[in-house]
Amino acid sequence: MKLNILGCYAATPRSFTNPSAQVLEMKNELFLIDCGEGTQVQLRRNKIRFSKIKHIFISHLHGDHCYGLVGLISTFRLLNRENELHVYGPKGIKEIITLQLKLSNSWTNYPLYFHELESKEAQIIYEDEKLSVETIPLVHRVYTNGFLFKEKPGDRKLLIDKAIEYNIDVALYRSLKKGKDVRSESGELVPNHLVTANPEPPKSYAYCSDTAFNPKMIPQISGTTVLYHESTFLEDKAELAFPTKHSTAKEAAQIAKEAGVGKLILGHYSTRYTDINLFKEEATSIFKKVDLADDGKVFIFE
Ligand SMILES: [Zn+2]
Repeated sequence: MKLNILGCYAATPRSFTNPSAQVLEMKNELFLIDCGEGTQVQLRRNKIRFSKIKHIFISHLHGDHCYGLVGLISTFRLLNRENELHVYGPKGIKEIITLQLKLSNSWTNYPLYFHELESKEAQIIYEDEKLSVETIPLVHRVYTNGFLFKEKPGDRKLLIDKAIEYNIDVALYRSLKKGKDVRSESGELVPNHLVTANPEPPKSYAYCSDTAFNPKMIPQISGTTVLYHESTFLEDKAELAFPTKHSTAKEAAQIAKEAGVGKLILGHYSTRYTDINLFKEEATSIFKKVDLADDGKVFIFE
């Protein structure tokens, strides 16, 4: 699992900071999460093969999370994309994008699908044989969802030396990986656990931006491998967090602690702060395993 942070600052793009966008690589698939202005430039700068992106998840319709979308969709057309593109986001996103495409007479030449969201309950919005994606209802000034990406348990690990030792035909290796008992070449039944090991524990990633302090999400994200949680403010501006429906670094850490996540990544910093290390300092007083997102930063989770 790999996370490319393309942008992680609140509000407006500036010389050296970009609004929200990130690419999650899970089970060899690339998912774009949020698409602030300039996302396609950031995709290029970070050398991401963006033709591989088939699914884009938009948390909410504030500009710093979606103003890059129509540009990216148009660029895909200019690059002669043929693959389907699926966009998941709040109801209204289809109207926004199609109005722009219509008035510029530049319909896509590839299939573009919108999956509009309006439920206030968590729901599975994407699933394949390797992973699933569900919404995390958030508390913000407009309808907003976070997204929880969950790997499904993989195949069992084949212990090749043991398989040879027990004289198992290579043609049966696939059955072993699927957990089945097989017969050796001499006809003896070999219990699966003698020749395989447990698969890697499935990983998960929760993206929660933008949101006010929202303990309701804790059961859903409990035990998640990595949580990205917005921290627009420090406690010194806590009086701004509540009316704007954002969180402080301390509140993000409280969520991480109570959910028992493996790691907390902070982001969506207000551009009023010049030193983002202060966010880490504040959060680590509550929860130790904290990292800071920053534009261009790549996290790899083995
Ligand atoms: Zn917002």
